[in-house]
Amino acid sequence: MNVNQSAPPVPPFGQPQPVYPGYHQSSYGGQPGSTAPPTSYGAYNGPVPGYQQTPPPGVSRAPPSSEAPPASTAQAPCGQAAYGQFGQGDVQNGPSSTVQMQRFPGSQPFGSVPLAPVVSQPAVLQPFGPPPTSAQVTAQLAGMQISGAVAPALPPVGLGYALPPGSQMTGPPGPPPPMHSSQQPGYQLQQNGSFGPARGPQPNYGSPYPGASTFGSQPGPPQPLPPKRLDPDAIPSPQLNELPPQQKTRHRIDPDAIPSPIQVIEDDRNNRGSEPFVTGVRGQVPPLVTTNFLVKDQGNASPRYIRCTSYNIPCTSDMAKQAQVPLAAVIKPLARLPPEEASPYVVDHGESGPLRCNRCKAYMCPFMQFIEGGRRFQCCFCSCINDVPPQYFQHLDHTGKRVDAYDRPELSLGSYEFLATVDYCKNNKFPSPPAFIFMIDVSYNAIRSGLVRLLCEELKSLLDFLPREGGAEESAIRVGFVTYNKVLHFYNVKSSLAQPQMMVVSDVADMFVPLLDGFLVNVSESRAVITSLLDQIPEMFADTRETETVFAPVIQAGMEALKAAECAGKLFLFHTSLPIAEAPGKLKNRDDRKLINTDKEKTLFQPQTGAYQTLAKECVAQGCCVDLFLFPNQYVDVATLSVVPQLTGGSVYKYACFQVENDQERFLSDLRRDVQKVVGFDAVMRVRTSTGIRAVDFFGAFYMSNTTDVELAGLDGDKTVTVEFKHDDRLNEESGALLQCALLYTSCAGQRRLRIHNLALNCCTQLADLYRNCETDTLINYMAKFAYRGVLNSPVKTVRDTLITQCAQILACYRKNCASPSSAGQLILPECMKLLPVYLNCVLKSDVLQPGAEVTTDDRAYVRQLVTSMDVAETNVFFYPRLLPLTKSPIESATEPPAVRASEERLSNGDIYLLENGLNLFLWVGASVQQGVVQSLFSVSSFSQITSGLSVLPVLDNPLSKKVRGLIDSLRAQRSRYMKLIVVKQEDKLEMLFKHFLVEDKSLSGGASYVDFLCHMHKEIRQLLS
Ligand SMILES: [Zn+2]
Repeated sequence: MNVNQSAPPVPPFGQPQPVYPGYHQSSYGGQPGSTAPPTSYGAYNGPVPGYQQTPPPGVSRAPPSSEAPPASTAQAPCGQAAYGQFGQGDVQNGPSSTVQMQRFPGSQPFGSVPLAPVVSQPAVLQPFGPPPTSAQVTAQLAGMQISGAVAPALPPVGLGYALPPGSQMTGPPGPPPPMHSSQQPGYQLQQNGSFGPARGPQPNYGSPYPGASTFGSQPGPPQPLPPKRLDPDAIPSPQLNELPPQQKTRHRIDPDAIPSPIQVIEDDRNNRGSEPFVTGVRGQVPPLVTTNFLVKDQGNASPRYIRCTSYNIPCTSDMAKQAQVPLAAVIKPLARLPPEEASPYVVDHGESGPLRCNRCKAYMCPFMQFIEGGRRFQCCFCSCINDVPPQYFQHLDHTGKRVDAYDRPELSLGSYEFLATVDYCKNNKFPSPPAFIFMIDVSYNAIRSGLVRLLCEELKSLLDFLPREGGAEESAIRVGFVTYNKVLHFYNVKSSLAQPQMMVVSDVADMFVPLLDGFLVNVSESRAVITSLLDQIPEMFADTRETETVFAPVIQAGMEALKAAECAGKLFLFHTSLPIAEAPGKLKNRDDRKLINTDKEKTLFQPQTGAYQTLAKECVAQGCCVDLFLFPNQYVDVATLSVVPQLTGGSVYKYACFQVENDQERFLSDLRRDVQKVVGFDAVMRVRTSTGIRAVDFFGAFYMSNTTDVELAGLDGDKTVTVEFKHDDRLNEESGALLQCALLYTSCAGQRRLRIHNLALNCCTQLADLYRNCETDTLINYMAKFAYRGVLNSPVKTVRDTLITQCAQILACYRKNCASPSSAGQLILPECMKLLPVYLNCVLKSDVLQPGAEVTTDDRAYVRQLVTSMDVAETNVFFYPRLLPLTKSPIESATEPPAVRASEERLSNGDIYLLENGLNLFLWVGASVQQGVVQSLFSVSSFSQITSGLSVLPVLDNPLSKKVRGLIDSLRAQRSRYMKLIVVKQEDKLEMLFKHFLVEDKSLSGGASYVDFLCHMHKEIRQLLS
């Protein structure tokens, strides 16, 4: 067969394509989402003349769906978030206030690296058609030729472009902020959005500005009086001959001359945002995840489902080893699509089920080759010749293509679904609809914080918006309720009861479900009893003194209840504390920050008992997915508690020091989204590949009992599975390489389905072709997940060094084999990978791999497991946050303002900025911002009157206020978790939190600045090449 570079076929399934209502973002509860009304499937045919106007037999028109529910009125704005509210009660497990900000061994390996000459050569734009045959694409760092050595007399300097001390144009771009007094602890925001107490006055706080001297443990030189913060855009770069003599020998690197993420993102938007991405051609690199584009499926899966590290893979394992570029795919099988794109068609082959290869069991797909007049087909994965069953027979046209190819999704599309037959069901029985069980901690902390009352009130309305399918009037999902502290309380909410009945199980060591009938019920049938129960729960436990909780028995109970009801489902656990009560899965506080940067640091990430893995395995066997909402006031051992959610495809949410008035908006938004999202249950995913490569490693939230099947008790539209491939044979340029991801799952209505995604990649015998077709965002997604798993088994420093070495090898191989000859002093980066160093540095200095003293063990474990399931867009913004100036672009402009680089140098004190990373959202206000702007946004007359730490902007009727609030809503709508806003004033204490996210700068925890890291990478590459 030839799928190679063939002209894209005529769109087989016409526009407008049908919309999949189930995947619309619901608008309930203030979640901004699609405004498109749910629509039924459009006709399964297109404008192509000659094709039938009605759906062919076998195409089901019943997609899964949950209708977009109406907006809720239950939204209560948070009160103003005062600075002092954070971290209260979070002290016990945080480092004590006497701990000094440490510079950990190995945490700053780049300080003494001689600054490397960087040479400017124009980058060659990556063409998107067939790659050029020339291997001499030398996409390079723009920069300047500088030579010489670091003047030994000078103190080590962080950034080569730092200007001479004392000059108004030099030195750190901002004055050190007034530091915390020892009476008032500062708080440092972690990447996960939670706060921990920061230390008191820190010796380093005053100096670690970009460009300031903070290397090693030696104190920096006396700081000159800080110059006024200047807008770096307004500063002319000093020329070498303007520098004092002693500076002339030193390197200067203009930060504007090194590859800019902002520029790359903007260029891609401009070049690729206007045209749809048509998937008919093999090996096309899709637009970046930061570009808005539409996808037309013409035979390969949309990049929303699958993204690869490279779309042109080396033919041999030797080449692959030489390049060290990981071959991986980030797969999001149930990804939500924008309303304009068609969701996968559902194909029903009746009792015969989907057609598969007899040998390798691959599913029928556009790459299968029909032969012998259509009577047989050759498998594109294993080459086996299969008979075509009589009912599937069709004639071939003169090109060898079946004449019905464009009438059948499985012959013309990259993604589609099959209805599964009973053979694909557990115990050869079609599944029952799934169930949701809400399991609520009612111990003292949960009651006192107001959580239980808030949650019960919310559930009363939220239960009307459970996921449903197609045009179903109501959700098929049944619900059940459990409360617990040291014991469990089950509730009978049978519709015939006048009042709910409670049954207490105190034997938590041998958990059983005390009632079957009346535990899992239909919401509308039992509404009165459920409402009564949810009214009573907060009252029943209002005076509780019980502080101890159990945890594993709660999951066990939920899983047993699903087992008894013979269905899959999801447990929603709302939990507050370390489970220290006597029970299976009992935990002890083993947090020990002294382990950081020792060989035992890995134990902080490992579960403290194997009991939870065993429990998770049972859950997976039952199709029991666990979503965990944590409300800790102190250490709860996230590393252990998240084992079951992680292995069952669930999610973990964490609200440290939860207080209703400050955190309810964030919690309720997350809860609404989580409860309503479409989930596939009891799922198994298998990735098949054509001969020559195979899937060897998997990353994500799932369980594997063998080496090939990814088992997911639940899988939602946000979760990805990253798959790594290795060669087991030689690949062939002509036939390319094929991937087929098949996901077998039970829909929200209990229908058993198979979702198939196919993707064809090119293969190359020239390394240059590999480097021309890489996707750095996907590479970073893979490398971060690889590293974050690595910390379970290796010292963090080893993990960091491994990443650096791999990156250097990738770039050195390019330099050696692909770049045009040039002086060794030049740093030459492949165009597609020119952001690899800056992004990799962000991974290296993330909280998991290089924690600051204020980052808690739980925060690190939490972030570690979050990143494991992130898609490429999420890792991209998480590691390199988006920084948007708000007043530079015209107010009337409808588009998002162009971002600026995440560095303090880019901040102008006359402007206001939004910064987001998918979990956190800051509004930074410059000290010299115009008074009119302050008035328009905050309704106060001066900068000094703005409340620092504010989390809600006043609703004001002026264009700027509307624009900024609209932008905040739009940023939140783009992310899978609610981002709470924090207003940060320039030179206020809270600014330290904000600066944590300026990732191009040197970080307090010792992370290198972008420039320093680039120099270090250059040195590593030169060592490899010499
Ligand atoms: Zn086969």
